[in-house]
Amino acid sequence: MLSISNLRAEVDGNEILKGVSLEVPAGEVHAIMGPNGAGKSTLSYVLTGREGYEVTGGTASLDGQDLLSLEPAERAAKGLFLSFQYPLEIPGVPALTFIRTAMNAQRKARGEPEMTAPEFLKLAKAAAASLKIDFDMLKRALNVGFSGGEKKRMEIFQMAMLSPRFLILDETDSGLDIDALRIVSEGVNAMRAPDRAMLVITHYQRLLDYIKPDRVHVLSAGRIVASGGPELALELEREGYDKYARAA
Ligand code: ADP
Ligand code: MG
Ligand code: MG
Repeated sequence: MLSISNLRAEVDGNEILKGVSLEVPAGEVHAIMGPNGAGKSTLSYVLTGREGYEVTGGTASLDGQDLLSLEPAERAAKGLFLSFQYPLEIPGVPALTFIRTAMNAQRKARGEPEMTAPEFLKLAKAAAASLKIDFDMLKRALNVGFSGGEKKRMEIFQMAMLSPRFLILDETDSGLDIDALRIVSEGVNAMRAPDRAMLVITHYQRLLDYIKPDRVHVLSAGRIVASGGPELALELEREGYDKYARAA
């Protein structure tokens, strides 16, 4: 599904990704772990096409289609979704309006008709109910004055509504208390599907107690330096990243 080969990228003339290769097959959840500054967020930004991240070599494709030549909105229309480490607050825009706009933009890019208001409300109510979100919260300005846990819930709600093919969660666990962590993990686990895949980026093993990865990769100094099963995350928790920092 997601295929990355020898991907190199720089920011402000500094090479950050130094040849990343990674395959995430449909139906699987892969974790990327690594020390601070390893390039984890850079990888997610390069994949989603954020401005300022220049690809200098290699390839990345989703379902066999080149991603790197597409605009960010086109990548989103193909089903790529990146959760934010720090969710946006948008004063004056109700969460429901924001999500409806995002869904309709995605539909437009796919050449599909816009949803009617009743269709949208029906979907939104069903998703809110399944994620135990108070529907009134969705009428408030997006994320403004929301607690950390509420922001995360909102993000999972957006994810469920957009129903992405490939999801990237970048340190979505940072700053979450245990209840919020459980909400996020349940939401993410509910989205596991045979035709969907996920990349879970995290510095800590804790999240992986809740979201069980099929594979774990260690990113250090811009390269994948080790890959293994879930036991690799436990080893990192015990022994830290030193061994891999030296290997890089
Ligand atoms: P991680 O997410 O693994 O902590 P990042 O991808 O955020 O790592 O950062 C990787 C490296 O790239 C770091 O050395 C960081 O200082 C550098 N970097 C990231 N973003 C920028 C930027 N916008 N400008 C300059 N350097 C950056
Ligand atoms: Mg970091
Ligand atoms: Mg990061």
